[in-house]
Amino acid sequence: MKTNRVAGNDQDRANYVTASDQLKGARIHITGVVQGVGFRPFIYSLAQRLRLAGWVRNTSAGVEIEVDGNPANLNEFILSIERDAPPLARIDSIKTDLMPPNGYTTFEIIHSTAIEQAFQPISPDVSICPDCLHELFDPSDRRYLYPFINCTNCGPRFTIITDIPYDRPNTTMVGFPMCHPCTSEYSDPSNRRFHAQPIACPTCGPFIWLESTKQILPALIEAEEKPSPGTSSREVVGEAQLLLSEGKILAIKGLGGFHLACDATNQQAVIELRQRKLRVDKPFALMMPDIATIREHCYLNDAEQKLLESHQRPIVILKRRPDSTISPDVAPQQDTMGVMLPYTPLHFLLFANLVSWEKSRPSLTGVPPQILVMTSGNLSEEPIAIDNAEARQRLSSLADALLLHDRPIRTRCDDSVVRNFRGDNYPIRRSRGYAPLPLTLLWETPPLLATGAELKNTFCLARSQYAFLSQHIGDMENYETLLSFEDGIGHMERLFKIHPEVLAYDLHPNYLATRYAMARAREQDLPALGIQHHHAHIAACMVDNHLPLEATVLGVSFDGTGYGDDGAIWGGEFLLANYYGYKRLAHLEYAPLPGGDAAIRKPARTALAQLWQAGLDWEPGLPPVGAFCAEEKAALHSQLEHKVNTPLTSSIGRLFDAAAALAGVRQALNYEAQAAIEFEALVDPQERSAYPFELKHSPPLESDPAIKISPAVMFSAMIQDIHSAIPLPHIAARFHNGVAEMVYNTLVAIRNSMGVSLVALSGGVWQNLTLLHKTIDLLESGGFTVLIHHQIPTNDGGLALGQVAISSANLLQRSKLSPS
Ligand SMILES: [Zn+2]
Ligand SMILES: [Zn+2]
Repeated sequence: MKTNRVAGNDQDRANYVTASDQLKGARIHITGVVQGVGFRPFIYSLAQRLRLAGWVRNTSAGVEIEVDGNPANLNEFILSIERDAPPLARIDSIKTDLMPPNGYTTFEIIHSTAIEQAFQPISPDVSICPDCLHELFDPSDRRYLYPFINCTNCGPRFTIITDIPYDRPNTTMVGFPMCHPCTSEYSDPSNRRFHAQPIACPTCGPFIWLESTKQILPALIEAEEKPSPGTSSREVVGEAQLLLSEGKILAIKGLGGFHLACDATNQQAVIELRQRKLRVDKPFALMMPDIATIREHCYLNDAEQKLLESHQRPIVILKRRPDSTISPDVAPQQDTMGVMLPYTPLHFLLFANLVSWEKSRPSLTGVPPQILVMTSGNLSEEPIAIDNAEARQRLSSLADALLLHDRPIRTRCDDSVVRNFRGDNYPIRRSRGYAPLPLTLLWETPPLLATGAELKNTFCLARSQYAFLSQHIGDMENYETLLSFEDGIGHMERLFKIHPEVLAYDLHPNYLATRYAMARAREQDLPALGIQHHHAHIAACMVDNHLPLEATVLGVSFDGTGYGDDGAIWGGEFLLANYYGYKRLAHLEYAPLPGGDAAIRKPARTALAQLWQAGLDWEPGLPPVGAFCAEEKAALHSQLEHKVNTPLTSSIGRLFDAAAALAGVRQALNYEAQAAIEFEALVDPQERSAYPFELKHSPPLESDPAIKISPAVMFSAMIQDIHSAIPLPHIAARFHNGVAEMVYNTLVAIRNSMGVSLVALSGGVWQNLTLLHKTIDLLESGGFTVLIHHQIPTNDGGLALGQVAISSANLLQRSKLSPS
């Protein structure tokens, strides 16, 4: 690689060399997210500024640099690479080898080289940057109001990549040949769009149009084929705004899929959307144009604002202001709302004042709706729609019009959801903006695939020190989601050149993800490891907190469900755990779950079963008892007595359901964990007293030696409060306080025998921040160190990472122990 060696004249050399006797050379190799993020132009201008000569190039493993220069400038160069890297770059390692100078005279960006088997991370999709946003609304810019404006610092990435290396022909932009001005921007190292693969403009790029689904737009094109780009985005967006103002529902094609949108302040529109989408109570996400608008409707602290404005632009769960004018049907019975800022140019156009339609519609104010429901574009639990034909087929009955574009989406990617907990991120769904950035393991793993769980599925591929946790796949309950899961695995295996040698799966035999792993293991003759659900949760939390292979924790896995080693449904588990294995030290006492997992939607049944187990009467005055007629009660009683389809459970999710039902919050669910979520929203923060739980130590030699935590005394105390007409917010608080104290008391009992005081909290129930706050306060005051999640969800969306860690650790141990 001596292409430009000592060719320059003396003047050239003088530009770079001030004291030739001091001249040094260096070769630098950088790994991480360093391609497609403006890294080479950054290196180029840095080298120019520091008068270094040499070259930079992409390799399939990262970026490689060779430079000559004086030692001070070389030093500054290496420091600046880390310090001043472009916003989207993520540097994992910089390796520098000093060597004699090569005699370069200029600095160049040279051609990429491929390294067999090497791989490197791919950038997630990124919200529009301030520079592009400025140009979007600059009438003198050639991309004025152009919905697909982007540059190396922003725009689509993961969702448009079809193959590696990341180059335009390997993206869904392949069908858009660049025009002259775009080509020169793309080829100019000093331009913000140098090698910006999705570069586009109104002349050469994608465009938007509207299609009516209900003959409300007779003038617009109804053809199956895409129309020609005759209408400007001003007209299309103006028409879309008009429809939203009139209370219509729009399906809008976005970055990683479709949204269904309507005016969130229009009660009728919100109710109509719920009915069409067959979504009864589950909250809708909102999009608002700016922080000021969000402040009008929600309480917002600095950390939450930072999260909203981050380039990932997740949905952030915020506390609702009581005087907000947003329809309460957006999030019924909740005191929070999921809110995001616009993240694509099209979103910003939708909120902008582009046209005045007062003339044609005098009844309207002329201002586009400023708060939009932006919920995933699907019917009920199907995967979110991504292509136009699919949208016409699946969304036409849900939307009055489709706002389409012709830039294909390769990979479906839902919006991410995050909460703020004590100033730090607490992810609920890790997807757009975050995936497929890898998480780092503190050890080298063999190539692995972990297939995750049933609900909120994500899968995880791993090699070297990288664990690539997938975007949100969804609830694996239908064929479409399974297809999306299989396609996603194949795609990410190709992108990251991972050929799994081992498969890891959840122990539940009926999970579709488990069946996929078993079938593939048979077909490809690969070993497969079954990982216990709650062990995986705790291991995921350990990786999330960068714990090394030899670490041990007290894991509290609080969850709705999870297949146990004994076939029971676990979910209130205290585990002494490391990556290799675990010991079940305590758990909620088993109670029958009449009807099994299928009965989860009926907390009233769960409540009666728990009372039966606790030996408490089904008093007619108690709310869940009142939910059944005499025949139903008799049938349920007989079912419990004769143990007909009554699997045993230690799930704390079910305990929350039962307690919420008993308190009268809700007897039937319309979405997962609804009773617990509404129960939490009722908690009176001033209330200090707590319901008791009883810890039962097992006699020696019992087959299950774990401490059993009995809720019977808790239920008795709550029933007493109900009889004394204690207000519901106090009952809710006493229950939450009681569970927090129960966790503390159990861990103290365990710590005394185990001598471990590092606690990891994981599992879906820890999405209950009221419980999380109370529990952490108690544990920390008792001398425990508490780990929670920061990078991945505490719910089943993070499970696959734990499966990777456990299977990888066990493989390493096996290979360490094998005689070889
Ligand atoms: Zn940009
Ligand atoms: Zn162009």
